[in-house]
Amino acid sequence: MLSDEPPSFRILLRDEHLQRGIDESGIGMWDLDLDTRALFWSSATRRLFRVSQTDPVSYELFLSLLQPEDRIRADQAIQRSITTGCKLDIQYRIQETPERSHWVRARGGIVTDRNGAPRRLSGVVLDIDDQKRLEVALRAREEHLRLILETIPDAMIVIDDHGIMQHFSLAASRLFGYSESEAIGQNVSILMPEPDSSRHDGYLTRYQSTGERHIIGIGRIVTGKRRNGATFPMHLSVGEMLSGGKLHFTGFVRDLTEHQQTQAKLQELQSELIHMSRLSAMGEMASALAHELNQPLAAISNYMKGSRRLLAANADLNIAKIETALDRAADQAIRAGQIIRRLREFVSRRESEKRVESLAKLIEEAGALGLTGAREQNVLLKLELDSECDRVLVDRVQIQQVLVNLFRNALEAMAESPKRELTATSTKTSDDMVELSISDTGHGFSETALASLFSTFFTTKENGMGVGLSISRSIVEAHGGRMWAETNDSGGATFRLTLPIAPTEDLSDVA
Ligand code: ADP
Repeated sequence: MLSDEPPSFRILLRDEHLQRGIDESGIGMWDLDLDTRALFWSSATRRLFRVSQTDPVSYELFLSLLQPEDRIRADQAIQRSITTGCKLDIQYRIQETPERSHWVRARGGIVTDRNGAPRRLSGVVLDIDDQKRLEVALRAREEHLRLILETIPDAMIVIDDHGIMQHFSLAASRLFGYSESEAIGQNVSILMPEPDSSRHDGYLTRYQSTGERHIIGIGRIVTGKRRNGATFPMHLSVGEMLSGGKLHFTGFVRDLTEHQQTQAKLQELQSELIHMSRLSAMGEMASALAHELNQPLAAISNYMKGSRRLLAANADLNIAKIETALDRAADQAIRAGQIIRRLREFVSRRESEKRVESLAKLIEEAGALGLTGAREQNVLLKLELDSECDRVLVDRVQIQQVLVNLFRNALEAMAESPKRELTATSTKTSDDMVELSISDTGHGFSETALASLFSTFFTTKENGMGVGLSISRSIVEAHGGRMWAETNDSGGATFRLTLPIAPTEDLSDVA
């Protein structure tokens, strides 16, 4: 079997132990005679190529055993080594069965004779199938991970400890306008306006020397800069990680432009609500005026009628004129009364539309409207609602107006408080009423304020209208409930109001 072995191997293989050792290690040897094209394979090589130890081998057989796609590439690499004398290092697949192939790596070099003429191409062949499959699996996992990261709606940017961008997600490209290849390798400071841009390297150095966190793990609203120079508000949260023994930072960026527009819209809605409150305040006022003015108007009219009767007994020539004037005055007083009565009717015209509503939902919606900006102020809305009495029979718009007003007042009252907690609690007080309380940890009321809170036009605020609470109380009373205020344990305000629980048969309405 060793008869056709080339001389170099003959020497090597003389030592049977060494031969077996190399074979056992899985390293196969091969040798191609450049003159005769005779090919030698050691037993380990034969095992790798699944060729029996006795079958003859040839260069053509070698090529035919490769996976078709790898044949030309392998042949070309070998020819190149032969013609140029360069080292051979190729990876290819041996086709084991039509379905299965096996990765191997062949390395070799040209062996020259004493005169320096190339004689043979010899080398080794190694099984790299496990390694290759691992590599493929790793690449697939990396691709999978990359796809997952690409689906995150937030832009993701990874920088190294010098602020150089290492990863720039698709969402980041969309947001900032730089392509991945443009951004990677550049300093992340290009994504921010001045003064942050020139200070960012300093921020990184300061963090690494002091460990003082300003943004890492906290998250902040900052300004970003797009490629075209436009700036925009963004929420940035940063995490740090050790990768390859080096510190890296991962930033997640959310564009707040839309959020800001929503806030502006909310503010618009709020001012509309305030406008509505003013209208109803005018209604209240008109109603009160009508009530107050009716009496003096009626009195004027009566006095005039009386005076006319008294004058009737007098013979003065001007009497007729005075009588006409008095009649006209009386008519005008009556007309004024009618105008006011009509105004009153107009104001009270809106019938409230009571429906079965979920109290929790009403509070949540009112929270979204009334607590805008509350998160920035670190205000927490705690809900302690009894689900047993969630269904109430109310006019949604009106009760939301009450709640929004209570929330806005509470926010204002807590603006200077160290602790800012807003709690909405509900409890069933009787079979048909639920009591809702809204408590804050604000400055609370003074003794005098507590007595006048619900009076129309009572306000302690510079720009206050002092109508919110009085309207709120009218609304609650129109629902058959009550509304009052107390000072709570924290010194803040607690407003309580009761509302009718929806009768059980109405539950089908909302099912
Ligand atoms: P406005 O808010 O325009 O003053 P309101 O009728 O809503 O009108 O409130 C009247 C007054 O009641 C406020 O000016 C304030 O003095 C007091 N008040 C209302 N809510 C609170 C609260 N949560 N904490 C302390 N005081 C409050």
